[in-house]
Amino acid sequence: MILFFQLFLFSLLSDYYSQKSDDTNCFDLKFSKLHLEFFLDEKKISGFNESTFIKNCASDTLIMDLSENMIVDSIFLCNEKTEFLFKKNKLFIPIHHFTNNYFNVKIFYNGSPKIAKNPPWKGGFVYERDNSNMHWVGVACQNDGASLWWPTIDDVSDEPDSLSVEMVVIEPYFLVSNGRLDSIVQLNNSRRKFCWSVSNPINNYNVTFNIANYVHFSDSLKTTYGKLDLDYYVLPSNLNKAKNHFSQVKPMLSFFETKFGPFPFYEDGYKLVETSYLGMEHQSCISYGNQYKNGYLGLHPENIDFDFIIIHETAHEWWGNSLSMINHKDMWIHESFATYAEALYVEEFYGYQEMLNYLNYQKVKIKNKQPIISSNHKTTDIYYKGTWVLHTLRSVLNNDRTWFSILLNLQLEFKHKIVTTNDITKYIENLSGLNLESFFFQYLFNSDLPVFDYFFDENEDGMQLHYRWTSSDDDFSMPLLVTVYESNFNWIYPTKDWKSTPVYIKPDKFKVAENLFLLETNLIK
Ligand SMILES: [Zn+2]
Repeated sequence: MILFFQLFLFSLLSDYYSQKSDDTNCFDLKFSKLHLEFFLDEKKISGFNESTFIKNCASDTLIMDLSENMIVDSIFLCNEKTEFLFKKNKLFIPIHHFTNNYFNVKIFYNGSPKIAKNPPWKGGFVYERDNSNMHWVGVACQNDGASLWWPTIDDVSDEPDSLSVEMVVIEPYFLVSNGRLDSIVQLNNSRRKFCWSVSNPINNYNVTFNIANYVHFSDSLKTTYGKLDLDYYVLPSNLNKAKNHFSQVKPMLSFFETKFGPFPFYEDGYKLVETSYLGMEHQSCISYGNQYKNGYLGLHPENIDFDFIIIHETAHEWWGNSLSMINHKDMWIHESFATYAEALYVEEFYGYQEMLNYLNYQKVKIKNKQPIISSNHKTTDIYYKGTWVLHTLRSVLNNDRTWFSILLNLQLEFKHKIVTTNDITKYIENLSGLNLESFFFQYLFNSDLPVFDYFFDENEDGMQLHYRWTSSDDDFSMPLLVTVYESNFNWIYPTKDWKSTPVYIKPDKFKVAENLFLLETNLIK
C-alpha cells in the first residue's frame, strides 16, 4: 500500500513539474461555484468548490492549490468520488480515466484559514468587531493567493468566465460577495444562505466575502451605456457619513467612463463595502476601509482632498480587473495605470497645476532600486514610478488627443482580457506611431533613470548648451523640453552622443521640464 502511494505520488509529482514547464495552459477554468458555511465564533469554514475545466493537453493529473492547513474531506470528478493526494499546498487529482476534455471537480473541505497579519498586504481572513461588538469579517489575499481559503489554481493567467458564490452565515449577519445578489434563502437554526453570481471573468484573488451587521443603500448612474447600479454596504453607525462621503462615486465613474470607456462590469454592478482593512479592488465588490477620510487615511497634498481608496480601487475595475496582467511581474499594468488614473482625476476635478503637484507629491517616493518589471516587487515603484512613466510618455507624445485615445483604446481592445507587458507596449507603439522600444526598456526593465548630462560653454556665437543621454540603452533618445529662451520651454533631441545648441539664457536660469519628465539631471562642471 505504501509503495503504491509512493509510486502514485512520484508519477503525480513528475507530471506536475512537466506540466509546469511544458504547458501552463493545460487546464482552462470555465466556471467556479464556491459554497461555504461560516462558523464565526470558531473561525472556521466548511463547504466545497466545484470547478469546470476544459483540458488542452495530454496531462492526466489536475493540480490545484490549497493551503495545507485546510482539511480536504473528499473530491468528486464528474460526480464520482476519486483518489487524490494533498501535499505541500498542492492537490493532485488523477484524471487519466477521463476521455472527455470537459470535466468538473468538486472538492469538499473545511478548516480555519490563516488569519491576516497585516491586511491587505499580508493577507488572510480578517476578524474584527464593530463598535457594537458584532463580527466584522473579510478576506484579503492578493499577495498570498486565493488558495489560502479555497481550492483553486493560483495562476492569474486564467480566469473563470463566470462565478457563483453561495455562503451561509448566522443571522443577523449580512454577507456581501462579488456580482449580483440573486437570493437570500432562510435555513434552519437562524442561518441564511446568500447567493451571489458574477457574470464576467474574475481573478481568483478578487473573489471575496464580507460579513457584518451591514446596512445597505443603493443608487444608480445613468450613462451613455445604460444604467449602472451602485450598492453600498456599511456599518449601521456610519450610514449617514457614508451617504454623504460616497457622493464622490458618481462624478468619478462618469469621468472614468469618458477616459477609459464603459464601466467594465455593468452586469455585476458597482459596490463599495466597508471593511476593517484599508481597501482592495475586489471586482464589483470594492473593499473600502479609508474610514470616510480624505486622501490616504487623512494624508493628502494640500487642497487635493479626494478619498484615495475610492478613486484608486475603482480605477482598478478598468486597470486590473477588466484588463488584467498575465503574471505578477507585469503588475505595473494594474498599479501604474490605476495610480495614473488618480492623477487624471486630479487634473479633471482640481486642475492641471494641481495634477502636477499631486504627481510631485508621489515622485519623492520613487526608489529606482529594481526594475518595474520584476518577479518580486520590493518597493512601491509599480505605483509611483509607474505613474511617472505614463506621465512622461504623455509628454513625449506631446499630443493629448493621441494620448487619451491610447488609454481609451487599450481598454476597448483588451476589455476582459489577460495581457502581457509586451501586449501593452506594442499597442501603445502602434497607436502612437512611435518607436518606443528604448523608452520602455529604460523605464520598465531597468532600475536606473536616464541621466541628462549637460554643460555650458561660451564661444563667439554666444552661450552653448552641450547635452546627451546616459542610459541603459544606447538607442535611448527621448526628446526633452528645456529652457533655450528664458520665457518658455523648447524641444531638444538628445541621444547618447554629445550635441550642442545655442541658448539665450544664463546657465543659472536654465531649466529642464522636470514636472513633465522622469529623469536625472547631471550638470557637468
Ligand atoms: Zn492598487
